[in-house]
Amino acid sequence: MAKTQTVAFLFKCTKCKRLIAPSSKNAAENKEKIKLNRFCKFCRERTEQTETKISKAKK
Ligand SMILES: [Zn+2]
Repeated sequence: MAKTQTVAFLFKCTKCKRLIAPSSKNAAENKEKIKLNRFCKFCRERTEQTETKISKAKK
């Protein structure tokens, strides 16, 4: 069975602590937390951004 485990997450800026942009990854290929240098529109510069889980409001 070819089952792709795509996990949605948000990029969080480590400088301003804001959530930047939603993204997704293949959970089977990327088990480690993603850490990237991306442009933060709040800091107006490239900052280190880490993967943050999206908390689902489930009732
Ligand atoms: Zn920032």
